[in-house]
Formats: sequence, C-alpha cells, structure tokens
Amino acid sequence: MSQSSPFLSNDQLIEVFNYTHTATAVHVGETAIIQTANDAMLRIWGKDRNVIGKSLEDALPELKGQPFIEMFRKVWLEGLVISGKDTAADLIIDGELKTFYFDFEYRAIKNDEGKTICILHTAVDVSERVLRREAIEREQQKDEALQREQVLNEELAATVEELAATNEELVATNEELQETQETLHVLNNELELRVAERFNQLSESEKRFKTMAEGTDIFITVGDEFGNAIYFNKPWTNLTGRSMDALLAFGWADLIHPEDRDRYLDIYLSALRDKKPFTGEFRVLTQKGDYRWLLTSGPPRFHADGSFAGYISSCIDITERKLIELERLNLNKLIEASSEFIALIGLDMSIQYLNPAGLRKLGWANITNRNMLEVIFPADRPTAEELLSGVLQGIDFKQEIRFWNEITGNPFWIEWSGFAIKDQETGQITAIATVSPDITERKLHQEELQDINIEMAAANEELAATNEELAQTHEDLIQYTQKLADSEERLLQAIDTGKMGTWSIDPKTLEITVSGFVKSLLGLPLDEPAKTSDIMSAVHADYHNELKKSFANALNTHSSSDNEYPITNLTTGEEKWIRTTGRVFVDQHGHITEYSGLFIDITEQKLDEIRKNDFIGMVSHELKTPLTAINGFVQVLQRKAKKDEDNYAIVALEKTNSQIRKMTTMINGFLNVSRLESSKLLIEKTNFNLDDLLKETIEETYISQSSHQIILHPTCGVDIYADRDKIGNVISNLISNGIKYSDNGTSIEISCNLSDTEVEVQIKDEGIGIRPEDIEKLFERYYRVQGNHTISGFGIGLYLSAEIVERHGGRIWAESEEGKGSVFHFTLPLS
Ligand code: ADP
Repeated sequence: MSQSSPFLSNDQLIEVFNYTHTATAVHVGETAIIQTANDAMLRIWGKDRNVIGKSLEDALPELKGQPFIEMFRKVWLEGLVISGKDTAADLIIDGELKTFYFDFEYRAIKNDEGKTICILHTAVDVSERVLRREAIEREQQKDEALQREQVLNEELAATVEELAATNEELVATNEELQETQETLHVLNNELELRVAERFNQLSESEKRFKTMAEGTDIFITVGDEFGNAIYFNKPWTNLTGRSMDALLAFGWADLIHPEDRDRYLDIYLSALRDKKPFTGEFRVLTQKGDYRWLLTSGPPRFHADGSFAGYISSCIDITERKLIELERLNLNKLIEASSEFIALIGLDMSIQYLNPAGLRKLGWANITNRNMLEVIFPADRPTAEELLSGVLQGIDFKQEIRFWNEITGNPFWIEWSGFAIKDQETGQITAIATVSPDITERKLHQEELQDINIEMAAANEELAATNEELAQTHEDLIQYTQKLADSEERLLQAIDTGKMGTWSIDPKTLEITVSGFVKSLLGLPLDEPAKTSDIMSAVHADYHNELKKSFANALNTHSSSDNEYPITNLTTGEEKWIRTTGRVFVDQHGHITEYSGLFIDITEQKLDEIRKNDFIGMVSHELKTPLTAINGFVQVLQRKAKKDEDNYAIVALEKTNSQIRKMTTMINGFLNVSRLESSKLLIEKTNFNLDDLLKETIEETYISQSSHQIILHPTCGVDIYADRDKIGNVISNLISNGIKYSDNGTSIEISCNLSDTEVEVQIKDEGIGIRPEDIEKLFERYYRVQGNHTISGFGIGLYLSAEIVERHGGRIWAESEEGKGSVFHFTLPLS
C-alpha cells in the first residue's frame, strides 16, 4: 500500500513552478489563500515564503481597495478566467508603495465535476514596457508641439515676407506721399502766390479768397500775426463738426489728441516767434469721434509793406500712411523680440541685420563686417553657400543645417528658410531674408526616439520570447493539474473500493469522526456516529499512550502524524494491524481548522514482517545451540593444547575463539532485533556502578582486538538503575564501531559527564567520520552508510542501541565530521 501522498508537496510544487521565470501562484478559496507561489511571484509581491497559507488580503494588505481580491473571489465562485493587460497595481516593495503594470491571468482550475479546485495565477511584470510606451507618447507629444512651433515659425516667416511686401508698399506710399507733398507744396506756393496776387488784387476783398479756399479738399487755415486762427475752410468744419466760430483763435487746439497737443503747439508757437514756416503732424478729433492724422505746413505771409501777417497753413490727411508706419513699427518690435534667428543678408553675403536672438545664439556683440557664412558650422558651409546662391537665382530654400556659437564652439541645429527681397519696381533682388528656428532639441529628441525605437524592438522581441515561455509553462501546468486530478481520482477510488478509510479529530472537542470503512473494521454500527471511547477501546491498550502522544504532538506543532498499531474488531474479535496518517490544517490566522487523515489496513504487510522476524529469531536461536557446543569443545581443546604445549593448536584455538565471540555477538544482535520487533525485548533493571561496567566492557574488547588504544578518562563514579547487560551491549557496540570505522593504531576515548538528572557517556574515535546527511539515519534498522560496505556489518548495532537507550528514557546521538572522526553520546536518567 502506498505510504506517500499522491499530491505533490508544496515544496515539490514550488520546484515545478520555479523552472520558469514566469511569476506563478496557486490560490484556494474565496479569500484566495496562497497555496503556493514561486520565487518570481514572491519577487513581484516583494514578500518571502511566509505569505504561503495566508489569504491574499493578509499577505498583501495594500491590495485592499484595488480590484484584484474581488476578481479572485469571482474566479473562485464562478469558475472563470480573468485576465488583464498592462494593468496597474499598487504594491509595497521595500516598504514603499509603488505602481507596477502587469499582464496577468487568474484561471480557475476545475476537477471533472466542474468544481473549482484552485486558481492558477500567472503574472508578467510589464511595467518597463508600459512606462517606455508612455515615455514614447510623451516624446511624440513633444515632437508634435515642436512641429506646431515650426508651423508658427513658418507663419512668422510668412509674416516677415508680408512685412517685406508691406515695407515695399510703404516705401511706395511714402514716395507717393512725398510726391503729393511736393505737389502740395507747389500747390501751396501757387496758392500763396495766388493769394498774394489776390491779396494784392483784392486786398480788401477776403470774400474772394474764401470762395477759393472753400472750393478745395485741402484743410486751409488762416492765422493772424498773433497766432490766432482767423479762418477755417469748409473741410475743417466738415471734419471736426465744429462751427468756424468754435474753431477760431485757439479753439482748434483742444481738438488735437492730448498726446500730440503740446508737441504741436511748441512747433507752431516757436515758428510764430521766429516768423518761420512750420510743418507738423498731429491727430485731430473728428465729428465721428475718432482721430485722423493730419500733416500741416504753413508758410508765413507778409503784408505788402513786409510786415508779418501770420500764416496760411494747409493740412492733408495722412492717416493711412501713419497706420502703415505703425504696423511696420510693431513688426519691427516683433522681429526684435522674436526668439528665432532672423537675418537680412546683402548680395555680397554680408549680414545687414541680425535680430537680438540671432546675436545671442551666435555669441556675437555686433555684426560689423560679418559674412553670413561665418555663422554656419564649418562642415555645412558648402551647402549653405549653394543655398544662398540659389536664392539669387530665385530659388527659396528651407533646410536643416547647423549654425555654431563662436564662443562655445558648439554647433546647433536650425531649420533655415531663405527667400529673396526684391525691389518692387525693378523686380531686382536687393537682399536675402532668412528665418531660422532652433531645432536642436527636436533633433536630439529624434535621435533619442530612434534609440528608444531600437530598444523597444529588442524589448518586444524579449517579450515575445517570454510569452512563448509563458505559453509553454501554462501548457505544462495544465498537464500537471491534470495529473494531480488523476491522482486525486485514484485516491478517491482507493477509498471507495474499501482499501482505506478516513478519520478526523475536532481540534476543539478532540472528538474523533471516522468513515464507514473504519467503522466496519472496528466492528462499530454503520448507521450511527462512532463514539471516541468505542473507537479507542478497539485499539490495543499498549498503544493508547503512544497514539495520544502522537496526536497531541501533531496538534501542538501543526505537523503530521504516522502510527501503526493493532486493533480488535469489537463485533467479530478479529485482530488487524492499522496504519493511520494524519495532517493538521491551519487557517491564515494560524488556527487549526482540521486534523484528519487516512486509516489503512496493513495487516497483510504486518503479518509478513512478523513472519520474517519470527524466522530471523528462530534461525538465530537455532544457530546459538551448535555455537554453544562448539564453544564448549574449543575450551576443552584449549586446555588440552596448553597441557600438551602444542603451540600451533593454542594459537589456532585462540583465533577460533575470537571468531566464535564475533559470531555470538552477531547472532545475539539478530535475536534482539527479532525480540524488539515482537515486543519481547525485556528490560531488566538492577542497580550497578557505571564505571565498573565501562571498565569491564573495555577489557572484554581488548580480549578480541589489540589494534587500537582505548582510553577511559577519569569517570563519574555513579550508580545507575538500568539493564546492566543491555547497557553493556550499547557500550560494547559503540566501542567496536569506533574500532571498525577507524585506522589501526588510533585511539578510542571514553568519558562520562554527570548532571543533576542524567549521566552522559561519550565514545570518541579518530576514524572516517560520517556525512551530515547520514547522521540522522544511522539509528534506523538495517541502515548502513553507502561506500562503507567493505567493512562487514548488518546495520543493526545502532538500531538496537537506540532502542535500548530510549526504553531506559535516555537519548542517543552522534556528532561527526567526515574524515575527522565521530563522537557518539548517550544519556541515562539518574532516578
Ligand atoms: P554496522 O553493523 O553496519 O556497523 P551499525 O548500526 O552499528 O551497523 O552502524 C550503522 C552504520 O553507521 C555503519 O554501517 C556505519 O556506516 C556507520 N557508523 C557507525 N558507527 C560509526 C563510527 N564510529 N564511525 C563512522 N561510521 C560509523
């Protein structure tokens, strides 16, 4: 009958899981109790193996308020598969709450009846991938922003172009204006002449002058020698909406824009003082409520006798020109304030204008006598030269190129646009304008982006490999789970077919519950619950104590139990041998939830063993009789040989004797094993002196061997109450092992320590020593260390010694280092 559980243990499971790098865990129940988790999963959680057996919430309290615990519950209750990609989870790693991203799957694993038996939890930490993707998105946004900026810059370039056109228009308008002014001047002069003429002709008749003045669009004012206005023509009253009376004297002055008033009055009054002509510009309030710019000029007029008569001044509306000028001023400001590099280049490639941003970028103080090519990074100069000469052929350009800062020597990337500035009239190119936004950052980002793309491709490849691995692991796990289910199936079948039963003990009341199979073996009624007292009365009384101790130990230490004992069927009186295995289950708080196990009928196996034992006992016993006879005859022969002084016979018989002693020890050993197994090994205690026993045993040993020195250290001189022969066997066995497993000529040292409650004997050798993995097993029946088989033995000496010492209430153990010798200790209680 199989003695090991068909399930893999947690450790074995973990070993399976640990073959993969994929984080994997198995959970059970609504609270997702962690059944097992591999190292990769523990790393993700930032936890150690202590989380095994805890619910997910207890193991990872930071998951409270996150959706995962609820998902597990759903997977468990509804037998679902829930999976997610790039899912954020907050976990406490090294005491710090951090966000990670996972691809994960919670898969309900079901048995044949469709019942969920566990949840397979796999997860891949994809934080790096997600963060990388976000970084790329950010980079793309930046890039888009840069591109938007570029569009703006292009607009700016267009504006500058417009500006150039406006400038040209302005120049044209200015010229026109100049012409108009000249015409006006001529007209004025003519007018003056005509007025003078008229004055001369019609000196007394102002009426005629007025008629003339009223018939023109030009604003005409006549002032007297004191500066007072004495006449305004119709266009004035039309423009201002004020009557001539209101305008007369200095009534016109408060129509002038407050910002222009003082300046213009200064010009006018100082001209008046010197009787000189004047010109000036000012804004005048119209009857519509807005201001119009007027350009005025007034030549002085004189009477026929040469005395100063005042002014006849004429004004023209220059509002349109003024607006253009203003616009130009603003555009100039814009260029000055722009953070872009803006330059105007002459046909000889000399820089004629460079805005402050340009000077800053180049690290220049001014542009005196500089050539445009000095701005360009030396390696890019041929390209720049080609582009600039292209503009002179009428080809505008836009090209990424490097300028450089003369002071730092550092190049910087710009997107350089250039176009020709042409003379409006002749169409001749007069200069080249260039606008150059700095794109160094964008360039760097592009390079970074390229690097990131390469890295991403590598990461993706890795990810694909990991995914494949994951798929494989998943496949393996499914197969493994299937195997588990099969094993469970077989176990259930075994229970069903009546080869074993089940039992459990209530951890609180310690009441025992058993399955029907157990009841029938014990001869208890099948149709009612079995009483604990009835169950115990079926168990052989000699085993009650051992069983109780074993159960209590399992419950106290949360460990498993394994016992063999005979029972008597309470109905039929039939005797059977039973093996019960049990395991204690605990919840996440460490409370025992169940202590249960299997109840197996091992009668056949046990009877086999008993038969084998009886056989060994019988053979040993039968061998002893002839051996005793041989021993007797040898002694008679020895005496005779001594008498005849037959030296050869003396030596031969001594050797025969030694072999007989060895054989007797061996046969006694087997006899004792068989007695022990059949519980017939009796301990007969007497009071005796331990020192005496030690000395006797050493002397006996010397009789059969003289290859080693046996040293007895100052002893403890204590009387003990024990089975003298059997303790003698133990000492003798430990000494002969010391001799057997060490080189000739080495020493065996025996010492003894006394405490209040016990005495401890130590037997130390300088022999081959024992490996740590063997030390625990030395005291098992028939156990022999592998590789020592050239030395004869059956592996029963230490087994018997341990049984004898333990039956005395003592302990036995060994300490050893391979190649350096061993020390065997045993204790006996003093009381
Ligand atoms: P055996 O008859 O094989 O000596 P024992 O039960 O006395 O049986 O010992 C069991 C095994 O323990 C031995 O086979 C040997 O390998 C090992 N052993 C016992 N005593 C010693 C010792 N003093 N030094 C090294 N190995 C020892």
